[in-house]
Amino acid sequence: MPQWNFCPRCGRQLVWREKDDGRLRPTCLNCRYTHYANPALAVGVLLTDEQNRVCLILRGEEPRKGYWGLPAGFMEGDETAEEGAVRECQEETGLNVELEGLYQAFSYQHSDHNTSGVLLVYRARIVSGTPRAGTDTVDVKFVAVDEIEVEMLAFHTHREALEKWRGGLV
Ligand SMILES: [Zn+2]
Repeated sequence: MPQWNFCPRCGRQLVWREKDDGRLRPTCLNCRYTHYANPALAVGVLLTDEQNRVCLILRGEEPRKGYWGLPAGFMEGDETAEEGAVRECQEETGLNVELEGLYQAFSYQHSDHNTSGVLLVYRARIVSGTPRAGTDTVDVKFVAVDEIEVEMLAFHTHREALEKWRGGLV
């Protein structure tokens, strides 16, 4: 369980209290603030080129540094999911892309950290730019479907997305 020690509203110490739904949640006894640990929302792209190769980025930061993944990251509070997917791709690959619709939503859960989230993967095509490593990434490549090294993929959600894509090609 993550520790939420102090109330973000009034600064008093939070205590664990059982709520009406039966769950224990960090609660402020002073101002009645309740902390809800809501799941994270990540956005990414399944970006293919004219040869129908898929864009992968080599992660330069933890978690899963040194593993490959789809261009993806967490959505910011001041953008739409679509804007986030385009932004993450631009930051990580140097490519400006246009989205072609939602590919699929992939759910994940880390039982050891008691966290969960959803990754929205969009189909995308390149509008402009040259592939280059960007923030948090150290390499960018386009790989053919039979060149994907599944064991070198960072996250199971990315693996699921690529396996679905591969399954649709054969
Ligand atoms: Zn408070």
